[in-house]
Amino acid sequence: MTLRNGSRGEDVKTVQRYLDELGYAVGRPDGIFGRRTTNAVADFQDAYLVDGIVDEITLAAIEAAVGARNTSKMESLIAPPYGLEEIQERFGVIEYEEASGGNIVITNDWAERNIIRANLPVVGTQSIHRLMEPVFNAVLNEIKAKGLDGKIKMFGCWSPRHKMHNPKRSLSTHSWAIACDLNWPTNMPGRVGDLDPEIVATFEAHGFNWGGRWRHRDDMHLQIPRGY
Ligand SMILES: [Zn+2]
Repeated sequence: MTLRNGSRGEDVKTVQRYLDELGYAVGRPDGIFGRRTTNAVADFQDAYLVDGIVDEITLAAIEAAVGARNTSKMESLIAPPYGLEEIQERFGVIEYEEASGGNIVITNDWAERNIIRANLPVVGTQSIHRLMEPVFNAVLNEIKAKGLDGKIKMFGCWSPRHKMHNPKRSLSTHSWAIACDLNWPTNMPGRVGDLDPEIVATFEAHGFNWGGRWRHRDDMHLQIPRGY
């Protein structure tokens, strides 16, 4: 079986679900192998042959990656929202005005209703979305238990702004405080950073989507939403 741009059906949908589960930006799994699926497959194949076609070797690699992820998977405490609408449904609607440097000023009472100061393991007191407290507690407690806490040197969560501080882009998931950045000086966007793979795997097992897997990689970044 070979799947490629233009293929349709349940096999395509299964591959899309796998890729989505692995954190690749495949869009909503719809059984139609289009440009986004091609790009997601190419991203997955980066270490192999980049052609965006799912042959038996690639399918076996995808299945192995999903299997490895599932066996190490912790119970994720939060179901990842997909896209802006689901983010707003679950985490609230932010009304805002533009500020300098791609930042925003929140103009409704969203922050009063949703932002809490939480004392978290490893990273201390942080401003986070109230629904993220059990999630951050779980992932950071596990990192501490694995003896990896010394490898998180910096942690940032809430920052009301546009993606990449670019006012032309949509709001960053940091605006809702449903993402975190780690050790940013050595993990800048567009280059391979130095986050410990076990740290990344632990966050992924708790439902986070790692920016290091994106086409325009952002290694410092871990967020709960998909497709945004
Ligand atoms: Zn970030």
